[in-house]
Amino acid sequence: MPALNHRAEPLSDSWIRSMTQVSRQHEAIDLAQGFPDHQPPQVVLDELARIAHDGPHQYAISCGSPRLREALARKQEAFRGTPVDPEREIVVTCGATEAMLVALLSVVNPGDKVAIFTPYYENFGPDSIIAGATPVYIPLREPTFEFDADEVEAAFKKGAKALILCNPSNPSGRSFTHHEMDVLAALAQKYDAWVITDEVYEHIVYPPHEHISMAALPGMWDRTITCSSLSKTYSMTGWRIGYLIGPPAVVSVAKKIHDFVTVGASSILQEAATPALDLPPEYYASLQETYIQRRDLFLNGLDDLKVTTSRTEPEGGYYVLVDIADYGYDSDEDFCVDLAEKVGVGAVPGSMFFHEPTNHLIRLNFARDEAVLTNALNRLSEMSKLRRARF
Ligand code: GLN
Repeated sequence: MPALNHRAEPLSDSWIRSMTQVSRQHEAIDLAQGFPDHQPPQVVLDELARIAHDGPHQYAISCGSPRLREALARKQEAFRGTPVDPEREIVVTCGATEAMLVALLSVVNPGDKVAIFTPYYENFGPDSIIAGATPVYIPLREPTFEFDADEVEAAFKKGAKALILCNPSNPSGRSFTHHEMDVLAALAQKYDAWVITDEVYEHIVYPPHEHISMAALPGMWDRTITCSSLSKTYSMTGWRIGYLIGPPAVVSVAKKIHDFVTVGASSILQEAATPALDLPPEYYASLQETYIQRRDLFLNGLDDLKVTTSRTEPEGGYYVLVDIADYGYDSDEDFCVDLAEKVGVGAVPGSMFFHEPTNHLIRLNFARDEAVLTNALNRLSEMSKLRRARF
């Protein structure tokens, strides 16, 4: 057989997706893959029904339907205060997943270095490798998951051409402060680097924390590529509608890469999703309230069960890292398989998110509705049966 692409050799299957399969296999409550279980907004469902009959059923313009791009520009300006040109500064992609890869392919060359905070959302490593770049990891240290500015600077000194910033952060739950964002912005400017953000949890932030977009900081518009999606904000992860926003020079490259890879995201789903972008501020307040309730229910429940989490309260996103050090497992993967099989709850091994060797954490998400979370907590009360005798 002819040789395969050597760049793909270090890639493994996604642990997030595999653990969801393991959960299904054992009929466990899947708290592995992070997705909500409530419906998208009614206005979107109604539009989908209308468009099913009226169309369009053929290709959209590759970089995204004009209606959707205009709505994205309106929404972005309303929330971030930065005007966006829907013609020259937006590409609609197949989820933020594609947006991140296209962003990287647009600015890095094979051999370039890309700085990534660890723990990190598992796609960032493979994305960098597919783009031919070498990741340079910067630790976010437990229990606060703050970064050390000197270590960020060291990554830039090593030549990192871009920094990937997931904010709010999956899986650490950080929502970076204004001061932290200013520090990162200053370093990116000092070392003339790109910042590629993943902001899919931008509307799932817990007060008093607030979301700060890198692109909106002074001097950062021209060097920031913002990746986000409709998945989490409008509970439509299966629609795979994401986007990237950036300066025209980057977007003109990104449009070409996106076009040749996918031709475009589904036209019917882009059209149907468009009214979501014009929902009033109350929609976002209610989304936030929903997640505050889920977070409180789940974290208080874990607390009552004396389950230790890596930090007291996530600041954003809907993940929590649970400390399993006391259970005596040599492998967090084995722990997660046992948790699905014997306790009936699906989780993701924490080591999948860390560059440094880590074996004491698992990731659970609390995006599910309250009845599901209550049921999961009942099952987790049995977690102590996984405790192994210590020698
Ligand atoms: N972002 C979600 C998570 O971290 C879903 C990932 C995925 O499978 N696309 O679980």
